Amino acid sequence: MTAPADPHAPSRQSSLIARAEDLFPGGVNSPVRAFRSVGRPPVVLAAGAGARVRDADDRWYVDYIGAWGPAIVGHAHPLVVDAVRTAALGGFALGATSPSEIILGEAIRAAVPSMERLRFTSSGTEAAMSALRLARGATGRDLVLKFAGGYHGHSDGLLVEAGSGLATLALPGSAGVPAQVAAATIVVPINDLDGVQAVFKAHPDRIAAVIVEPVAANVGVIAPAPGFLEGLREVSAANGALLVFDEVITGFRVAHGGAQARYGVRPDLTVLGKIVGGGMPVGAYGGRRDLMAHIAPEGPVYQAGTLSGHPLTMAAGAATLALLDDAAYEALEATGAELEVGLRSAAGAAGRTVAIARVGSLLTVFFRDGIPTSTDAAMASDRAAYARFFGAMLDQGILLPPSQFEAWFISLAHDRELVAETVAAARKAFRA
Ligand SMILES: *Cc1c(COP(=O)(O)O)cnc(C)c1O
Repeated sequence: MTAPADPHAPSRQSSLIARAEDLFPGGVNSPVRAFRSVGRPPVVLAAGAGARVRDADDRWYVDYIGAWGPAIVGHAHPLVVDAVRTAALGGFALGATSPSEIILGEAIRAAVPSMERLRFTSSGTEAAMSALRLARGATGRDLVLKFAGGYHGHSDGLLVEAGSGLATLALPGSAGVPAQVAAATIVVPINDLDGVQAVFKAHPDRIAAVIVEPVAANVGVIAPAPGFLEGLREVSAANGALLVFDEVITGFRVAHGGAQARYGVRPDLTVLGKIVGGGMPVGAYGGRRDLMAHIAPEGPVYQAGTLSGHPLTMAAGAATLALLDDAAYEALEATGAELEVGLRSAAGAAGRTVAIARVGSLLTVFFRDGIPTSTDAAMASDRAAYARFFGAMLDQGILLPPSQFEAWFISLAHDRELVAETVAAARKAFRA
């Protein structure tokens, strides 16, 4: 949009990065922003408009980070900005229920009917943590089953790695997580229904919940194998455990009703975040009416939040969801397909072996042969090749997620021209 900055001018961005590095661990307030896995200095983003973002040196990029998911209508959409401005004039958090919470809550329930009742939180982390507290409180059981590479926020019990072998209790995935806490989570490979069955057999009547990203999107995009989600539904019900879909990314992304609508599987509890806050801090969890009655003050499971249901968040979320009609999902699908086809032909022309996994507007270019169906297979991608590709794209004004294992997020603002621009850049970058 603007000419590239004068390469000899002192970079405002590099001085900001230096100040940030002095202030914040890694120079960032969330680790992946540090660009460590692509071996480049991070960008400092000063503004976004539509499908583009501008760095502190006034360079514009076509953006595929998409705020890590929320920016489905593009950055600073005028209707979302207006809604937030109007809400702000009425004051920010007032400390009581506001009409805006009811409006967004009803819009979510209309789209995701399994969320018969729900609660708003301020982050996806809190929502996932609270959903599992509820599952434990409602079932009177302690263990939780999750999948390798599934990300459910950074609460202690969910920051775990698989121990060796199936049905082993997990090890802490971060320093500072007590071993006893990690041991309450059991990790199974994605798409491994036999593994899930083995865990239920090994721990009869002890599993409170199975939590899953119905489309894994934090190890690159891994779609559910045919029958996997249906199988989880069946096995958890048969064993008295609750099925929790973490739809923080997939909610309002892979379909208006999320992955549960796309694949036709109804979970007991659902976790949302990202898109439903329209770019503001948000999380939500909800599900069966009888289960939600366990939450305080109706029931004994405690969960609270000073800024939960924040009016500016509610306004941004409601304005965003209002833009997501059937035509929007058709457009996202079409743009995703066009980008996928273009990238595949660009890779082919460069003689580069890649596998492009895509579910709607979520996409990953894996630098490996064959679309991975497990975390181990995804991990076997050539990260150094991705890092070179990332750098070559960045140099041409295309900002990809700074990790092989983060999804590209396509928005309604990514039009055909931007896709063509991306594919043209990829033709060169795949040769790098
Ligand atoms: C981002 C994410 C979370 C955590 O949400 P935060 O708002 O970052 O706390 C949880 N689950 C999934 C699937 C996510 O992608």
